[in-house]
Amino acid sequence: MKNRDWASRSLKSVWHPCTQMKRHERIPLFPVSKGKGAWLYDFEGRRYLDAISSWWVNLFGHCNPKINAAISSQLEKLEHVILAGFTHEPVIELSERLSLRSGLDHAFYASDGASSVEIALKMSFHYWKNTGKPGKKNFVSLKNGYHGETLGALSVTDIPIFRDTYSPLISQSILADSPDFRLAEAGETSEQYALRMAEKLKKILESSHETIAALILEPLVQGAAGMAMHHPVYLERARQLCDRYEIHLIADEIAVGFGRTGTFFAHEQGNIKPDFLCLSKGITGGYLPLSVVLVQGKIFDAFYDDRTSRGFLHSHSYTGNALACRAALAVLDIFEEENVIVQNLEKSRIMNEKSNQLSHHPKVKHFRNAGMIWAFEVEDEREDFQERFYLEALERGLLLRPMGNTVYFMPPYVIDEEEMDFLVQNTMEIL
Ligand SMILES: *Cc1c(COP(=O)(O)O)cnc(C)c1O
Repeated sequence: MKNRDWASRSLKSVWHPCTQMKRHERIPLFPVSKGKGAWLYDFEGRRYLDAISSWWVNLFGHCNPKINAAISSQLEKLEHVILAGFTHEPVIELSERLSLRSGLDHAFYASDGASSVEIALKMSFHYWKNTGKPGKKNFVSLKNGYHGETLGALSVTDIPIFRDTYSPLISQSILADSPDFRLAEAGETSEQYALRMAEKLKKILESSHETIAALILEPLVQGAAGMAMHHPVYLERARQLCDRYEIHLIADEIAVGFGRTGTFFAHEQGNIKPDFLCLSKGITGGYLPLSVVLVQGKIFDAFYDDRTSRGFLHSHSYTGNALACRAALAVLDIFEEENVIVQNLEKSRIMNEKSNQLSHHPKVKHFRNAGMIWAFEVEDEREDFQERFYLEALERGLLLRPMGNTVYFMPPYVIDEEEMDFLVQNTMEIL
């Protein structure tokens, strides 16, 4: 069967995510037959460079031999088992290793990023209830922040296109100004701007801390805001303020964890430890749905009691799935065996060199980079910029998905120099 046949069958039966389905009357749906490394293949032999890591999840390429082998061998032993009252080898090993990496004691599992955000919000509120402060039930989040699309996660998300329709259903959090350094005033450094925004955050926490349970933020890069980046000093200040006003700090590293910003966790660059750390996306290298909330010991201890109601009774059916945990263990093995953080530093440097001309292109504004993320705004007045750019890129064998006028690269870490050239050259041609 050809691309077109698969696409039409899909459009008749699948309701695709984040899509106005009628749009596919104009824009073709793109069927993928297989993947290898940084490339995706259609049914007619053409290939496309996956420069967005299949929605920010892929780390080590499609059909990675090491991850494939790990999942296959796990399949011979155990695919899944209930995690209440039972446990298994992959979930224990993964929890131990994530704890060593993060310095956080306990791991609570779910399947998607949004569910891990729900868990962190519920746990934070429940912690304060268990410790005699039931009035702490509000959350502070950052403007333009994104934390997922279930109702609880939407309440701390500030992306109008995802939130506004459902606003009657959600209790909006308190919004603090974003430290996004594109918003700095002329002559102000990113650090000065982050410090100024931290002062604004202080005012909110100072006046309302008695009703605030937690501050949730995406450390260093607000992904869905258009790869908005901020100076790490903001994290340091946020940590200090949360300590001073007895507020939890929830680090949503669903997109930025696992080496994306240059360190294993993004919050390391602020020299801080969050109370809650949400991880998903790259955790399985883009293979299987898995998310986790890592928490400090004091959080866990506040639930440890003879009374059932003081426990955290939340659950999902596929919590701690053995295949997904095994994939995550393979990902951690690759980080260690292939010295990925150090390798990526070099890749990032080379990519910046190759992007020199692109960053000075007359239409390009705010060219920025953090680890293995690059982004810039394109000056183009036309309303259909996003769509035209996307189609032009596909035409050239490139999968890019601008957000508004923001074009970003978030390639799998296996991208090589030739592929980088392909990415940059074609982007230049589209511009
Ligand atoms: C993707 C994302 C989420 C939601 O994760 P899902 O698995 O899509 O539910 C939450 N927070 C951030 C920062 C994300 O990038």
